Amino acid sequence: MTDVDCCVIGGGFAGLTAALRLKQAGRTVALLEARDRLGGRTFTETRADGSWIDRGGAWIGPGQDRIQALMTEFGVGSYKQYVDGEAMMVVEGKQYRYHGTIPWSMSPWVAMNLGAALLDLGHLCKTIPLAAPWTAEQADRWDRLTLAHWLNTHVVSKAAHELLETAIAGAYTSAGSEVSLLFVLHQMASGGGPAFVLGIEDGAQDSRPIGGMGAIYGPMAAELGDSIHLSRPVRDIHQDDDGVTVHSDRDTVRARRAIVAVPLAIASHIHYHPMLPVDRSFLHQRMPSGAILKTSVIYDEPFWRSDGLTGQSVEPGSPATVTIDACTDTGSPGVLCVITEGPIARRIGRLDPADRRNEILDALAERFGDRARTPADYVEQDWSTERYSGGGMLSHAPPGVLTEFGHALREHCGRIHWAGTESSSVMCGWVDGAVRSGERAAAEVLEHDTVAAGGDRSVRS
Ligand SMILES: Cc1cc2nc3c(=O)[nH]c(=O)nc-3n(C[C@H](O)[C@H](O)[C@H](O)COP(=O)(O)OP(=O)(O)OC[C@H]3O[C@@H](n4cnc5c(N)ncnc54)[C@H](O)[C@@H]3O)c2cc1C
Repeated sequence: MTDVDCCVIGGGFAGLTAALRLKQAGRTVALLEARDRLGGRTFTETRADGSWIDRGGAWIGPGQDRIQALMTEFGVGSYKQYVDGEAMMVVEGKQYRYHGTIPWSMSPWVAMNLGAALLDLGHLCKTIPLAAPWTAEQADRWDRLTLAHWLNTHVVSKAAHELLETAIAGAYTSAGSEVSLLFVLHQMASGGGPAFVLGIEDGAQDSRPIGGMGAIYGPMAAELGDSIHLSRPVRDIHQDDDGVTVHSDRDTVRARRAIVAVPLAIASHIHYHPMLPVDRSFLHQRMPSGAILKTSVIYDEPFWRSDGLTGQSVEPGSPATVTIDACTDTGSPGVLCVITEGPIARRIGRLDPADRRNEILDALAERFGDRARTPADYVEQDWSTERYSGGGMLSHAPPGVLTEFGHALREHCGRIHWAGTESSSVMCGWVDGAVRSGERAAAEVLEHDTVAAGGDRSVRS
């Protein structure tokens, strides 16, 4: 049995940050990670030619100060997303090439509907108290409504409706009918509003770390050294008056406190003894993750750039719903990232892999020409089939959940503390939110330890 000050469960950015900050504060830590790799919903893969792809979370943006701080700490630089060209939108079968956020050459009616809805949502976001969205003046009303209801009643143009549902519900990798309006407003507000969430330049897709997310979690892991234990799925956590006993498949850890940093959607896969308070248990049962496929289509060169395109495109309903240039900082090879979310990801996820690939490449060829049909390589990552993620990008709240159970998101349950991007009031759902949650949980553990020891940590309770 390993005996430490704190046991951290989960080696994504939340768990790694929590463990790192505790170790830096002089505590002994054991981090138990279920998979045989770290990174969780981020996953950087180095390829035979030395280039790399991010199969999960990849982009960073302004205001994401805590991931930026980690990058500074470990000397990781960043590079800007490629935006030197036109983006493309396919609406009702017609292609529009444009600069900026909205193709104004599209019907002015559609563009006006889009602009007005984004402005309205931005105003609503400003009324959300980030630390306690359930206390917003309209919280009860908005938590009874779905995003789909809001779109149905506020967006008249069918094309604008489809685009907004694709862009906004897409972030929750679900249909608009599955997500609470209050949750949507909170999550968008936590990033600064719709312009940040949906934006490229100065938005959530502004830049990328050089070397991918692995360039950050790699050195974090190196500093943690033998505190990290891979291939240890945690099955149960027992609490008593003096500490916690954490059982994984391969060993047992005894610690004074535990930090659980697994996605909310699968937090109930761990058995807690005694049972958690009802509100926390019910939260675990009520915050699912949606479906997302991230496909990296690799070409010898980013040919779309010489055609005057950024590689960014969107087509509601298409198997290649969203595309974005995902080349490394060297620009070679050409990597086009295809994102498929929600109901469409569920549909194509059921297909035979060869049929799925054909559907995606056909859709790319329609947008980028025949060269798109013959990539040098094709790497798909279906997050719905990842046992230890339970889907992606984040666990979301359906109607009625935040107002009743939201208070339990960060409340520790005895000696168990909670981390994970879903528990962050700022940048909830992003890697930055995961880092913030890890730092918060580590600070809680340090505070409780100090209190228990009467201010002198050397006298351990
Ligand atoms: C396709 C995709 C694209 C995304 N794009 C972006 C982006 O561009 N920018 C951005 O900021 N964010 C993005 N995100 C979201 C981002 O990846 C997540 O917010 C972040 O990685 C979550 O970190 P976390 O530590 O909270 O959880 P996770 O990364 O999920 O870490 C949880 C860890 O717990 C482990 N675990 C689970 N169960 C157990 C158990 N029983 N015992 C032990 N370990 C367990 C898991 O294996 C995992 O390593 C994206 C996500 C996806 C899926």
